[in-house]
Amino acid sequence: MRWKRRTGQAKPPWRLSARTLVTCSISTIIGFSAICASVMIDLRRGEDVRARQSLDNLAAGIGADISRNIELYDLSLRAVAGNLLLPEIKQVSKPIRHLILFDRASTARNFGAIQVFDAAGRLTIDSASLDPLPEDRSDAEFFQVHRDRADIGLFVSRPAERGGQYFIVLSRRVSAPDGGFAGVVAGSIRLGYFRDLFSRLSLSPGVGITVFGRDGTIIVTAPFDAAAIGRNLARAPEVTRALTEPSGWSSTGALDDQSRLLIWRNGNDPLVVVASRTWDSVYAVWRNEAAQIGAMMLALIVFVLAATQVAAREIQLRTKVESSLERLATTDPLTGLKNRRKFDETIEIEWRRAQRAQAPLALLMIDADHFKSYNDTHGHQAGDQVLVGIAVCISDSVRRAGDCAARYGGEEFAVLLPGTAETDALHVAETIRTKVALWAGETANTSISIGVASITPSRETDWSGLLNAADRALYMAKAAGRNCCATAAVQRPLRSVVLAA
Ligand code: GH3
Ligand code: MG
Ligand code: MG
Repeated sequence: MRWKRRTGQAKPPWRLSARTLVTCSISTIIGFSAICASVMIDLRRGEDVRARQSLDNLAAGIGADISRNIELYDLSLRAVAGNLLLPEIKQVSKPIRHLILFDRASTARNFGAIQVFDAAGRLTIDSASLDPLPEDRSDAEFFQVHRDRADIGLFVSRPAERGGQYFIVLSRRVSAPDGGFAGVVAGSIRLGYFRDLFSRLSLSPGVGITVFGRDGTIIVTAPFDAAAIGRNLARAPEVTRALTEPSGWSSTGALDDQSRLLIWRNGNDPLVVVASRTWDSVYAVWRNEAAQIGAMMLALIVFVLAATQVAAREIQLRTKVESSLERLATTDPLTGLKNRRKFDETIEIEWRRAQRAQAPLALLMIDADHFKSYNDTHGHQAGDQVLVGIAVCISDSVRRAGDCAARYGGEEFAVLLPGTAETDALHVAETIRTKVALWAGETANTSISIGVASITPSRETDWSGLLNAADRALYMAKAAGRNCCATAAVQRPLRSVVLAA
C-alpha cells in the first residue's frame, strides 16, 4: 500500500535476488556448522566425563579390595605382636603357640608366612614351620625402620624379588611392656595377588592401574610391567599430588611417555591406587564420530555451496533477461526513446510527486511539421530517418535525471520535465526546436512545432489538464506558422506566446 501511494504503481512482487540467496545459504551453513560444532564439543565433554567416572570407580574398587586384604593381614600381624608378649606363650609347646599366634590369614593364596624376629633381627618364629632355619634380617629396611622408630605402625616395604617372585613385606613393631624394642613381626604379600585382582577386571584399551607405596615407589602396574616395579616417582608433581590429596585428577605423561588422564582415591591406606587412561583412547570413539560427521558436513556444505552458485547464476541470468525485456517493453524500437506506455506510467508518477512536493511539472508536445508531405515526397523510410534524427535532437537536449522523452505516437513526441517552470520549459523547447532546425536544414529539410505547458498541480486534479494545455499550445504553434514553440496555461483561456519562426 505504502509503495503504491508513493509511486502510484502496484508494488512489484518480492523476488529472491542472487545476493539474498547467497547470504541465506552462507548463514545457514554457518548456523549448521555452529550447531554441529556445539554437538561435537558436548559429545567430547561427555566422553571426558564418562572416562573420569569409570576411572574413579576403578580406582575406588581396586583400592577397597587392596585395603581390605591389607587390613586383614595387618590384623593377623597385630595379633601376633600382641600375643607374643603374653607370659603364657613362653610356657606352651610350639604347636600350641602356633595355634595361639597365627590364624589362617597367612595361608591365603599369595599371602606369605608370618615371621617374628627378635630385637637382634634373628628369626624366632615362623608361621610356616615349627622349627625355622636360622635367618638374620637385621639389615632389612623393615627391621631397621621399626627398631629406630616406635611410632611407625604398619610398614609396607618397597617391592623385592626372591626366586623370581615379587613381593612386598608388611611389618609391625613388637614392643616390650616398657615400650622398648622387642622385635618385628613381618609377613609378605606376593605381587601375584595384585595380578590376580587385575586379571578379574576387563580393562579397556589405554586404561592402566598403578599401585604406589606411600613413598612414591611403584609396587605394581596393570598391564604388568616388570621394569616399572620399584621405580620411585615421588618427584613427579602428579604423583606427589596423588600421594597427598584425598582424590583428584591430572593430565600428564608422568607414568609413561603417553599423555594420560590420572584419577586417584587416597584414604589413609598404605597403598595408593592411581587409575589412568591415555587421552588418545578416551577420545578414540569421539574422534571417529567427529571425522564422520565432519566429512558429512563438509559434503553437505560443498553441495549447498554448489547448488547456491548454480541457483544464483540462474537468478542473475533471469534478472538480466527480465530487465532487458522490461527495457524492450518500455522503449520505442525506431527512435530508442521511451514508448507511449512508459510515458503514461511516468506522467502518472511525476504528477503525484509534483502534487506532494508542490513543484511544477512541464510537458512539451512536439510534432513534425508537414510530415505527411515529407513522406509523400521522400518515402516512408526517409521519414523514419527524420523521426530518428528528431529523437536524437530531443534526447541531446533533455539530459536531466527524471526527465522523460517519449515517442507519443506517429510523428509526435512528448517530453516531461519535472520541477520545471514554464519559462525554463520554453527554453528547453526552443533548444530542441533549434537543434532540429539546424540538423534538418543541413540534411532533412523539415521542422518541428512544440506546445509547452507547465503547472504546479493542485490536489484532486489529474494530468489530463496538463496534456490538453500542451496540445492546445501545439495547435497554437501550428496555427502560428509551424517551426515554433508556444505555451498555454492549464485550465485557463489560451494565453499564447509565439516565438520566432
Ligand atoms: P502538420 O504539420 O499539420 O503536423 O502536418 P502533418 O503532415 O505532419 O500532419 P498529419 O497528422 O496530417 O500527418 C502525419 C503523418 O505522419 C502521417 C504519416 O504518414 C506520418 N507518420 C506517422 N507515423 C510515421 C512513422 O512512423 N514513420 C513515417 N515515416 N511517417 C509517419
Ligand atoms: Mg501529427
Ligand atoms: Mg505533423
